[in-house]
Amino acid sequence: MQESAHAAHNYHPLEVVVASGDGAWVTDVAGHRYLDCLAAYSAVNFGHSNPVLLAAARAQLGRITLTSRAFYNDQLGPFVTALAELAGKDMVLPMNTGAEAVESGIKVARAWGYRVKGVAPDLANIIVAAGNFHGRTTTIISFSDDESARADFGPFTPGFRTVPYGDAAALEAAIDENTVAVLLEPIQGEAGIVVPPPSYLPAVREISTRHNVLFIADEIQSGLGRTGSTFACDLVGVVPDLYLLGKALGGGIVPVSAVVGNTDILGVLHPGEHGSTFGGNPLAAAVGLAVVNMLATGEYQQRATELGARLHAGLSALIGHGVIAVRGVGLWAGIDIDPSLAPGRVVCEALLARGVLAKDTHGSTIRLAPPIVVSAEDVDWAVDQLRLALIDL
Ligand code: PLP
Repeated sequence: MQESAHAAHNYHPLEVVVASGDGAWVTDVAGHRYLDCLAAYSAVNFGHSNPVLLAAARAQLGRITLTSRAFYNDQLGPFVTALAELAGKDMVLPMNTGAEAVESGIKVARAWGYRVKGVAPDLANIIVAAGNFHGRTTTIISFSDDESARADFGPFTPGFRTVPYGDAAALEAAIDENTVAVLLEPIQGEAGIVVPPPSYLPAVREISTRHNVLFIADEIQSGLGRTGSTFACDLVGVVPDLYLLGKALGGGIVPVSAVVGNTDILGVLHPGEHGSTFGGNPLAAAVGLAVVNMLATGEYQQRATELGARLHAGLSALIGHGVIAVRGVGLWAGIDIDPSLAPGRVVCEALLARGVLAKDTHGSTIRLAPPIVVSAEDVDWAVDQLRLALIDL
């Protein structure tokens, strides 16, 4: 296979070569169809070849795709205005990948700490949670506790403190006068769809406010409809200081990410201090605006709530039948398979043979996150394929 011969081996794909996609389904080079229950790690929330998003992209492709931010373009303004409104904030810092949004959030928080909070130079610290996944850059892996993400990539960036996820008291105890931010996933995706206790995020919000520390919510995977609300923070009535967004913001078409917050925080950045050649490009902005407009209808959030309830009801019935536990909310599920049956990878291979694309994480956990456009029948069918695959193991 050319990909194995000439692409670096930093992934271990399942044996399927996808050639096209439509809605929640993809077709391989041999013409076999599969229900996509990964949705590119939630980047394809609105489905493959979504006609509205394709139309926005096509229209912009015929006009202009890249200007750099050395000049204004006529797409970025409408996009950042709409995204700020969707988030209830007043400013957007557009970037491309999720990791860039996280890096940008860290830089903004540090600059805010020195320039607004008055932390002494180079002493800023940021509190993060055990089990986090925020991306792959050298700074971000510096505060990962996944050894396979870190080994041989040091030296690491200092300035981060790790506390247990879900424990607000431990988080508060780690804060000192040099703490500028708390950076959390409202639901930990790569850790296996770990949902914290309902009181956790409200407590983090209260503690952050009381200590004059920014609360940065990494909603790159949890945000933009996946959980049945625009942001996972909405589920518990929490508003962070900064949202980090990515993945679905680009509609599965182009990489689009953003840091979203108010002017008193994002306003710390001045010309020349931060940037990106592609960040805020007109093609990305046109697609991003179409995504925001779709979310503004509330239709996708409602769909994820309803279909998510169906998905979780179906999966709960498998507990005791090869499944140990199911976590998640909305159209997002982490399923712990009985490790004595088979590793998660083997279950995913069995699902593949049955026409379902899914991905294992941390050994025996399988994640299901189909595009939100998936039908109710397809949700039931996917759960049934898992049931049958577990019987056949
Ligand atoms: N943050 C979270 C919560 C993620 O789940 C991911 C990717 O899985 C990232 C950041 C990194 O995004 P990207 O792969 O686009 O850099």
